[in-house]
Amino acid sequence: MTKTIGIIGAGQLGQMLGFAGRQLGLELVFLDPADSPPAAAAGKVLRFPFDSREGLQELAAMSDLITYEFENVPVAALDHIAADTPVYPPAQALLHAQDRLAEKQLFSSIGIPVPEYRTIDSVADLERAAIEVGLPVVLKTRRLGYDGKGQQVVREGSEIERAVTSLGCNDLIAEQLVPFDREVSIIGTRSVRGEICIYPLAENEHRNGILDVSRAPADVAGLEIVAQGYLTDLLHRLDYVGTLALELFVIDDRLLANEFAPRVHNSGHWTIEGAATSQFENHLRAILDMPLGETHMCGEAGMINLIGSMPPILPKSEGSSIHLHDYGKTPRPGRKLGHVTVIAESVRARDAALSKIAENLIR
Ligand code: AMP
Repeated sequence: MTKTIGIIGAGQLGQMLGFAGRQLGLELVFLDPADSPPAAAAGKVLRFPFDSREGLQELAAMSDLITYEFENVPVAALDHIAADTPVYPPAQALLHAQDRLAEKQLFSSIGIPVPEYRTIDSVADLERAAIEVGLPVVLKTRRLGYDGKGQQVVREGSEIERAVTSLGCNDLIAEQLVPFDREVSIIGTRSVRGEICIYPLAENEHRNGILDVSRAPADVAGLEIVAQGYLTDLLHRLDYVGTLALELFVIDDRLLANEFAPRVHNSGHWTIEGAATSQFENHLRAILDMPLGETHMCGEAGMINLIGSMPPILPKSEGSSIHLHDYGKTPRPGRKLGHVTVIAESVRARDAALSKIAENLIR
């Protein structure tokens, strides 16, 4: 009998989960208050706020399993439906991902190194942290931050008061501004039965706090195995089910964890064409307790986000195949409208294709 997966959130991640689900012969139903969200192309959308009891009950009544595409889902709302319908990933993953302090404590308890940090509830706290941790620091809200929102870099003592006040004075965290060499992410999937698969590490470049370009595999020599160990420990500790992304800073020959996302991730979009099985398909396989698919790569992969406007043309580039993903959103400055994946026979061909695509983007 056809299984129905309920997905909270109907943005582009929901859309790509939906497309993968349809290939697996699944039915998809989404919960999202937006009018015509991207995932409407992949299944029915129930238009309710994310914390609507009525909406969640309707979603649960139609679904064999429930999952979500973003980490700010209210945990209490999920607990309410989890009694009758399985919800994956587990709530404890969400709880940790929603609070930067709990997240850092979790990393430390597993032995995953993090940047030095202090909790901040007043101007005086940040003045003390500036001395103990040293400036510059990044001041972040503990909750509801994403894509660089809810953060401020504090470089001088004179900036402390304004930064603390502008972020709401309490429930903040100040981290050392890590002079990283590069940023990487590692994505893996764990199934109900505890099977784990891990994708090659991706290197990520951000622009204005938003992911701009990912390249996989990242050229980081011995660090890949370290990152795999961190990810595996995290998946086990959370008794995790689904796909998870761990974002890390590379500094000299060390890795420091920045954050994790309990969901499919933008830095893994290249897996649609670039890996034997995409992160989206493996997420669905994991929650359905199906055997996970192979994660090996189909070439050198690259991904470039289309932010604010779509490219007028997509170039051809020798030695590469180029794939456009249009999420079907109305263009708005700063909005992720789509992405382009490049799969190439060499690193040089991939990077040449990424440069050509970037030349055609208005940014
Ligand atoms: P986040 O929302 O924490 O992922 O931060 C968005 C981006 O800001 C990261 O991908 C980094 O480029 C930068 N960033 C965040 N925290 C730090 C830090 N402690 N040191 C250096 N850069 C950071």
